[in-house]
Amino acid sequence: MENILEETRFIMKKYNIKANKSLGQNFLINGSVIETIVESSNLKKEDLVIEIGPGLGTLTKYLLEKAGKVICIELDKKMIRILEDRFNLYNNFELLNQDVLKVDLKKLIKSEKEKYNFKNVKIVANLPYYITTPIIMKLLEEKLDLNNITVMIQKEVADRLIATPGDKETGAITYSVYYYATSEGILEVPNDSFIPEPEVTSKVIKLNIRKNPPVEVKSPKVMFKIIKSAFMQRRKTLLNALVNTKVFLNKEEGLEILKELELAEDIRAEKLKIEDFAKITNKILEKTI
Ligand code: SAM
Repeated sequence: MENILEETRFIMKKYNIKANKSLGQNFLINGSVIETIVESSNLKKEDLVIEIGPGLGTLTKYLLEKAGKVICIELDKKMIRILEDRFNLYNNFELLNQDVLKVDLKKLIKSEKEKYNFKNVKIVANLPYYITTPIIMKLLEEKLDLNNITVMIQKEVADRLIATPGDKETGAITYSVYYYATSEGILEVPNDSFIPEPEVTSKVIKLNIRKNPPVEVKSPKVMFKIIKSAFMQRRKTLLNALVNTKVFLNKEEGLEILKELELAEDIRAEKLKIEDFAKITNKILEKTI
């Protein structure tokens, strides 16, 4: 890999670019990190890649060499000219100057697959950290026709997203990610791998989208609401948290459900497996029908 730091400085100078903090612009300059991201995504010519936030195009260049096609979604107009100048000659490059949160990804993926017969669709990105969670939840909840997602995000968020429910880092979002995907931590990335340096440590993670959910639940939406309620008051016992948030009608009903599911009266939310939340959800739905 060429000297990415020099190349980045050169491009920034040529186009008079100053990183825009409010758009989460921290440009990658570490070649071995880029290599790891590209390798972990295991790209082939039969793959469509969607890159979110290509920025100056540092990662894009390597994605274009490996994938069948790369569609880049970048919000910042200033980056658009750079990306067009750099990659105009690639016939597998497409650029959308849009906010990724507003793009109809389902429609985009469907039409690309129909047109070009791609076997796999993969997301690869060094995400803008100010919207990490909304982007990942959009990718998961919209049930897109995706195979995997390889992204760089803040380490703290990464550890929560890829925890196994019941681990120390478990939060409400852990269960959502677990429901839609299996996950792996790929690499911890030091701050000096970017310019400017972010204030937090970063981590590359990979989410492999599940073909089937790990639990059967009558309404995943209701289950995620219950999980949110349980974690809103995570210092309280599950029983108190769910009574306070009116998931359980009252303490008696809560105790009865916990007993039926063989869960301790004083158990806390983070100790529950997703199967436990699925069972609580099914019990509550049974009662309300
Ligand atoms: N991929 C480049 C790299 O690794 O050097 C840049 C990554 S930088 C962390 C995040 C990129 O996301 C920036 O280029 C930023 O302009 C872009 N971005 C920020 N908000 C966005 C949004 N809502 N939709 C699409 N791109 C966005």
